[in-house]
Amino acid sequence: MSLRKLVTIRKIVEITPIEGADLIELVRVDGWRSVVKKNQFKVGDYAVYFEIDSFLPIEPRYEFLRQKYSKKMIVEGKGEVEGIRLRTVTFKGKISQGLILPLSDFPEFDLSTDIGIDLSEKIGVLKYEQPIPACIAGKIRRAIPSCIKKTDQLRIQNALDFFEIFKDVEFEETEKEDGTSTSYYLYNNEFCVAGHNWELRKTDKNVMWRLTEKYGFEEALRYIGKEVALQGETVGEGIQKNPMLIKNNAFHIFDIFDIKEGRYMIPEERYEYLDKVNSFLDSDKRILHVPIINKNIKIFQVCRNVDEILNRACGDTIYTKGRKREGLVFKCTKLINGINVTFKAVDDRQLAKEKD
Ligand code: ATP
Ligand code: MN
Repeated sequence: MSLRKLVTIRKIVEITPIEGADLIELVRVDGWRSVVKKNQFKVGDYAVYFEIDSFLPIEPRYEFLRQKYSKKMIVEGKGEVEGIRLRTVTFKGKISQGLILPLSDFPEFDLSTDIGIDLSEKIGVLKYEQPIPACIAGKIRRAIPSCIKKTDQLRIQNALDFFEIFKDVEFEETEKEDGTSTSYYLYNNEFCVAGHNWELRKTDKNVMWRLTEKYGFEEALRYIGKEVALQGETVGEGIQKNPMLIKNNAFHIFDIFDIKEGRYMIPEERYEYLDKVNSFLDSDKRILHVPIINKNIKIFQVCRNVDEILNRACGDTIYTKGRKREGLVFKCTKLINGINVTFKAVDDRQLAKEKD
């Protein structure tokens, strides 16, 4: 299940004018800011909020977006479909994320029952998924087994209550790498390689499979014998425009999912497991971890609000001087009521620059 609620009813909490703009203004819902037509909303109004990465169907109520944001996507069972892809943009220098429309445009929604729930299915909104480039596509084999959690991170803009609830909690702070999510695991005693959603068949072209041989993941997993999924980012040439300018290709681990326990290891357990794996592997095959910026930081004491944490996310990647990182990912160092609390803070200015 995805963490994301792409379409929700939310309250308008703030409206600010944009200098030099007569027709538009900036509206905030939770931690999100979005540009809207002026005088459409008042503070306190309920409205329908569409998060970035929503893929809207072609309908009259979204027609004003079609020319600029039309995109095609392959949808299972339907083939190639046209829709409207929402992404981070700037208007007059202001970052705008997602779309806010009046509740009155949506007679199918009911304020008394629909607040807080994801309404995307009700109106046919999908998550936009980028096409997988040929060099990493491989061939899809099957969906990831349901006992393994897919990689996913909550955005801090959607978790404003964290600032209060987790004020005294320590987090591991890592760089968010911009590559493609990869999982390696043994399932029914068979070694498997998976991308974000799918297991991939072994082919010579597939980077994730090629790295398997380079690092010896299978041997390491078999040697240790604990049922886990190693999850990380495959980065480098040919992947996501390689923004960190990494030479060749590499796998950088960021999580280990314990399949038996049905949960992620906390950072200390992860380091310990990784040490074991690495002590088994040849020195030139060691698995590298994503960059750890802090092993334990009470981040909500350092950053008191969403703007502060989003600012912190902006900075250079540790890999290449002068290249911006995508953002930060935080993971709690201890389980909180049995749960791993994790979230991401993304440098939205980088997102806004992306053209495709
Ligand atoms: P997209 O799917 O378009 O690449 P995204 O990377 O923001 O967007 P999310 O699922 O929202 O996708 O963010 C979590 C993803 O971030 C993970 O799936 C993982 O691939 C990636 N990631 C990169 N660095 C880290 C890190 N240090 N810790 C955890 N996840 C990371
Ligand atoms: Mn990503």
